[in-house]
Amino acid sequence: MKLLRHGQPDSEKPGLQLADGRQIDASGFGMDWNENFFADPANMDGLRKWAETNADSAPVLEQGTRLASCVARPSKIVCIGLNFSDHAEETGQAAPEEPIIFFKATSALVGPNDNVIIPKTSEKTDWEVELAVVIGKKASYVSEADALDHVAGYALHNDYSERAFQIERGGQWVKGKSCDSFAPIGPFMATPDELDDVNNLKMWLKVNGETKQNGNTCNLIFNIPQVVGYLSQFMTLLPGDVISTGTPAGVGLGFDPPQFLSKGDVVELGIDGLGESRQEAVNA
Ligand code: ZN
Repeated sequence: MKLLRHGQPDSEKPGLQLADGRQIDASGFGMDWNENFFADPANMDGLRKWAETNADSAPVLEQGTRLASCVARPSKIVCIGLNFSDHAEETGQAAPEEPIIFFKATSALVGPNDNVIIPKTSEKTDWEVELAVVIGKKASYVSEADALDHVAGYALHNDYSERAFQIERGGQWVKGKSCDSFAPIGPFMATPDELDDVNNLKMWLKVNGETKQNGNTCNLIFNIPQVVGYLSQFMTLLPGDVISTGTPAGVGLGFDPPQFLSKGDVVELGIDGLGESRQEAVNA
């Protein structure tokens, strides 16, 4: 199944993308795609059954309907840093021996095609195409072998980053990762059965039509079971939590000279099986 959310920011509703590409409202199911929904695997089975019976009679989304983040605001967004060796190299850092983890404020969450807002005083707003993992069952001290039992699905994410805030202003990376609109997630969350092999998905990103990132999840230094298991040794991952697993080479910081976003720039990105998204840069 492909779960999406739609509507204006103050009245977002659950929806589904069907196998034929139709996007429908799923309010009739009676739950939003949030912690309560993901906490009980029976809800996903219930949704599957609801769709079999109701998909054809549910309202189809009108052309131009805003897509919201495909999951409701989670308890946390955890990101993995430098998880592709080519990206570690372009930033001048060694590939990490253990996963580097940092947080992104959940208030940064927006829809996949919303504008990216360049923060006030920002001169170094940058892009990062990433595979996001959505947690299903609560995960605490989970082994690598059991980790995928705790994954509800996967989604496309652009881990926007203000490099001066992140690197030049002291303290933790969270400062450069948390600005409003810095976490467009979607268009949809795909359940694992929708993907042939999550460890072999092409991922790409273009700015103004020019390819900047061209990677594959097969090059992750720490793969998804490793990341989920590792994180769960340090914190409890709650249902609906989002883990962004890292970006391949081709971020703006890695170019010589570096390239950053300005008002009017258009960023497009996609991952095999997880759809595409598009953000236009505007000033705060
Ligand atoms: Zn990232």
